[in-house]
Amino acid sequence: MTNINELLKDLNPAQLQAVQHSPQIPLQILAGPGSGKTKVLTMRIAHLITNCYLPPWSICAVTFTNKAANEMRERLVKLIGKDNTGLIKMGTFHALCAKFLRRYAKYVGIEGNFTVCDADESKKIVAKLLKQHEEFLKDNNITMKEGSMLSMISKLKAKGLTADDALKKVAEFKKESDQERTLRHLRDQTKPDILEGKLGHVIATVYKEYEKLLRGSNSLDFDDLLLFGVKLFAQQKKASSWCQHVLVDEYQDTNTTQYELMRYIAQTSRCVTIVGDPDQSIYGWRSAEIENLANMKRDFPGTQEIYLEQNYRSTAAILAASMAIISQDKKRIQKTLNTSHPKGPNPVLRAFPIEQVEAGFIAAEIKRLVAFSGGMLNWSDFVVLLRFNALSRTIESALQKEGIPNRVLAGHKFFERLEIKDVLAYLQLVDNPAFVPAFTRVVNVPSRTVGEKTVAELLHRAEQLKISPLQVVERIVDGNIPDIKPPVKKKLGNFVGVIRDMRKFANEGMSPSKLIQALLDLIKYGEHLRKTQLDYESRWDNVQELINFAVEVENGMPVAAEKQMRDAEDAAHEELWGDDLGEWDADQVEDRSDTPLRLFLQASMLSTDTETPEDEKSKEKVTIATCHAAKGLEWAVVMIPAVVDGVFPSSRAEDVDEELRLLYVACTRAQGLLYLTHTTTRKVSGETMPQSISQFIAAVRSESKTRGTFAEDLPTLSLQERETLSKVLNGRPLPDEAEITQRVAEYQRTSRHPVWGPNAPFKDLPNAPVNGYGVPQRYPAAP
Ligand code: ATP
Ligand code: MG
Repeated sequence: MTNINELLKDLNPAQLQAVQHSPQIPLQILAGPGSGKTKVLTMRIAHLITNCYLPPWSICAVTFTNKAANEMRERLVKLIGKDNTGLIKMGTFHALCAKFLRRYAKYVGIEGNFTVCDADESKKIVAKLLKQHEEFLKDNNITMKEGSMLSMISKLKAKGLTADDALKKVAEFKKESDQERTLRHLRDQTKPDILEGKLGHVIATVYKEYEKLLRGSNSLDFDDLLLFGVKLFAQQKKASSWCQHVLVDEYQDTNTTQYELMRYIAQTSRCVTIVGDPDQSIYGWRSAEIENLANMKRDFPGTQEIYLEQNYRSTAAILAASMAIISQDKKRIQKTLNTSHPKGPNPVLRAFPIEQVEAGFIAAEIKRLVAFSGGMLNWSDFVVLLRFNALSRTIESALQKEGIPNRVLAGHKFFERLEIKDVLAYLQLVDNPAFVPAFTRVVNVPSRTVGEKTVAELLHRAEQLKISPLQVVERIVDGNIPDIKPPVKKKLGNFVGVIRDMRKFANEGMSPSKLIQALLDLIKYGEHLRKTQLDYESRWDNVQELINFAVEVENGMPVAAEKQMRDAEDAAHEELWGDDLGEWDADQVEDRSDTPLRLFLQASMLSTDTETPEDEKSKEKVTIATCHAAKGLEWAVVMIPAVVDGVFPSSRAEDVDEELRLLYVACTRAQGLLYLTHTTTRKVSGETMPQSISQFIAAVRSESKTRGTFAEDLPTLSLQERETLSKVLNGRPLPDEAEITQRVAEYQRTSRHPVWGPNAPFKDLPNAPVNGYGVPQRYPAAP
């Protein structure tokens, strides 16, 4: 463990002031990228525990992703040790709510073993509901897909509107004539509300039915986690007595519900620290609201502000380019951001004829940089940042062609894969027998010749008997529902057998990873995959990966000690608050709610958003990620392809400024080297069309002040450039000359690159110019 007070010496005065700021005075730290906001937040937690003697369990730290939470946890372990870190309530707003709701579920009218329903399942449910309204929609000329319906529902939830609220609003709107409505919009200069008109009626109705189905399945979707969290903290003031200091990272992207939550969590202590950067607000489509900065000042009187003005992440050249980009946002508040790092090579800007050539360049360049840096840079130092997931295919295949190991950080959607969902569904049923989506998913996996009709019949009976479909099936198998044909009963026997065996194993305390293994044997899942899937091998690998993930979760959570820990926490809490806030009703508090299986399922469901499980191997790979998923992270080398109009800004974007901020977030991830590339053509339904460079970059190039911001020349990785790299990479050691010479020679011998390799790499591509924009003309010679 490092002494935190020693580390405080490394901070600059503003950072130190922020860390040591009085815990009782609410604090906003607003600052640009790389200025150490996350670092300060982490140190402040350590400071609060070590120097202000706050018990670790009373600290509530909110991060934007699970990945960010893991990183913060790792850093804190070094500062204050594993035991202390383990007690801190740390995670995304969703994860924190889940944690509290498991324990105090009954207070908000749910059961502690609720299942978190992921977006995919939600979509399926909404699709079914929409089907029931098909006629109405057709009659009224409304086209509505399940995806957009779900996002409407989600928007309502983000605003804190329940289904009943929505129905009430619809009823109010109905009282108004079309003409009155138009007049109102003109008068108030408002846009139509999504709950207005016939569409509003459908949205509110489906919302209500969707809620009913979820509650019937003892399930919460992602938005519900927050809403029920708010409900718990709003109604049970004593819940907030668990949190003596609330700290929030990436505050600029909190939405109304998350803000409410923060407000309620902090209602007892009034101690809040938030860090954020309005320039990096990129989640408008998730109803993130920038007004929350002002709201905080209103709700927490006396809030003080601290500004951090020194960037520690990037070279001066990268910072200058990023600033040139963001300054086009005319509405932004000007901020100072300095760096003491050397200038470093100018960010590279290059044009290519087509996408494949662009991707080929990126792959070749990564290889070259690794060689010419003498191994100072390795695969894990590179990230390719994309505006959309869909762009990843070309990049992935180009990297593969060059033999560069890579991983996709976002959009891989590991937990949305068929094989993963199958396995999880069985486990969900074991944990929460009422969860209907899991039942319908696996009652016939592997095939037990239980057809759709039978499933419909089972669901129907469940509704009639007011029990879950799983209970229906169990009753059938036990002979308690006699009017079922014997063949059906026989088919279901195996299914019930599997569930009962698994239930027994789980009750005996078998670990999640072992449970998965047992399940795979029981249902012969490998065989099932082989029979039904062409790519069964990679699917089987994924299932093995899930087992690894389970082991990781098991290691991360000292489950055996959990109860002990909680008792200690309870005692300390009691001592602190005495009877001030009243007792929890013991009957209402779940005691065995954090079973290992449940914790594992929750970890899986909550990582569905952007993450794939990380293993040691993934740390030695080039990362491909969306710009959104890269928030808060940093890499030595950042490459951003497809910097063209229609992508940056996206042609679908509602808010162009937000696209600009997104590009700014992407560029500011870079520590040492930054590449922006674009193509001059694109294919539109088979035809080649001209394509122009992103307006954001064109503006920087045409402005006389910023004309020289980007360069076409590639960095040579000269000694000076290597020294700069070493500086921004926290003093990474320089490679020796012999190592460089050897690697460069090896690279030149094996490279397929035009300058050094005998075979020009792009010659097999149609329309590739012999001598055109794409082929790097001025590749530097070996140093
Ligand atoms: P973002 O807005 O992108 O989330 P941030 O403000 O949270 O950025 P951090 O990620 O905390 O910035 O810090 C950026 C980098 O600068 C990290 O590598 C961090 O270790 C380093 N850093 C921050 N402060 C200092 C300091 N005082 N001395 C040395 N390095 C620092
Ligand atoms: Mg940060």
